[in-house]
Amino acid sequence: MQVKVVKFGGTSLADADHFRMVADIVRSDPSRRFVVPSAPGKRFRDDIKVTDMLFDCYHLVRERAYGEFESMYRRIRERFTGIISDLGLDFDISGELDYIRQSMLHRSGRDYAASRGEYINGLILAKFLGFDFIDPENAVFFQENGLLDSERTNRVLSAELRKHERAVIPGFYGAMPNGTVKTFPRGGSDVTGSIVALAAGADLYENWTDVSGFMAADPRIVDDPSVIDTITYTELRELSYMGASVLHEDAIFPVRNAGIPINIRNTLKPSDPGTMIVAEAPDTEHRNIITGIAGKKGFSAINIECDMMNAEVGYGRKVLEVFENYEISFEHLPSGIDTMSVIVATAELEGKRDRLLKSLQHMARPDKLSIEDGLALIAVVGRGMVKNKGVAARVFRAVSDADINIRMIDQGSCEFNIILGVEEHDFEKAVRAIYAEFDR
Ligand code: ASP
Repeated sequence: MQVKVVKFGGTSLADADHFRMVADIVRSDPSRRFVVPSAPGKRFRDDIKVTDMLFDCYHLVRERAYGEFESMYRRIRERFTGIISDLGLDFDISGELDYIRQSMLHRSGRDYAASRGEYINGLILAKFLGFDFIDPENAVFFQENGLLDSERTNRVLSAELRKHERAVIPGFYGAMPNGTVKTFPRGGSDVTGSIVALAAGADLYENWTDVSGFMAADPRIVDDPSVIDTITYTELRELSYMGASVLHEDAIFPVRNAGIPINIRNTLKPSDPGTMIVAEAPDTEHRNIITGIAGKKGFSAINIECDMMNAEVGYGRKVLEVFENYEISFEHLPSGIDTMSVIVATAELEGKRDRLLKSLQHMARPDKLSIEDGLALIAVVGRGMVKNKGVAARVFRAVSDADINIRMIDQGSCEFNIILGVEEHDFEKAVRAIYAEFDR
């Protein structure tokens, strides 16, 4: 039989109604054997995620604001006991909640506090589904430097999973070598799902959320963009890096190497096929030459002009060494014969502008040197572009027909990604123009 690992995000487990939907999804397919839950998320727009309330509790104890701590903790308690009673479950969680409260008051640490939302939600979900409960404290391990201990985790978790026909494994946390709880970065339950999928030797990692997959463009910019049906890991990396977010970036690594596909699904619309994330995808049809468009504002170009730059061996190295010395990482490096631009996130320049310019002047002796802020970068990504003629022409024509000036162009050697730099105020218009060109 196939094995599927299913991860449910916070909105998919925000209240009892959502728990029921989750249970229906899990029970409708017997191969959905291992379930990874997040902590309860928002039920409505101004609601607070349980993880955020737990962080607040941690800070309130540190500030010795015990009265506010108690009222915040009461709200967390009510969220969980509310879910249990609405589900009609005969399950007494008060001992666990008392223990966590005591531990927080005894300064058990930030990560411990943050992780308890997943822990309690996991206990409730395991009870509701009739599944075993595996505490990642005993199966997901970090190294002393805070990075995942992949080898040990995979070994111990695989052995543990083999003991269970069906189990719930809370997301987001594991243990340090000394046994204390450590969390992944925010949104890290996606990573746990991926780790469990690897350890289970799963055929598929289903990641259930509140959207029907990756959109081909940001729905805040483009009206009703289409959902991407298949995307490769590499394309996904490019789009996520440029701001498209549905899945935690680090979640792709464990499954990618093992060739396990990820399927992004919508808990509210379980019949939607969602987006498949795969290692290799078949060639796309003409209509889908572009897989997706993503972009971000907030970039700056450091423009350097120097006569005979191209003839001077080592010029680029001198320039980049200055950036390295100031610990500024660069995004792109478009260059001409006697010019080069270093594109960086504007935030990276904070407090370093003058010193950076002085050092560049000193080290590279340019004829002209300037910083230009207010750039937006747009990534047009699509494996269908590789070896397909005319795609770049269509991108540029669409942008120029929209009366937008392109400030920078970059295409990686892999040929499935064209990066455009435009003025920030042209950003949305350019994304819409490119999307419209390929949405035919
Ligand atoms: N609950 C954690 C967070 O809000 C982890 C997760 O949901 O993935 O970041």
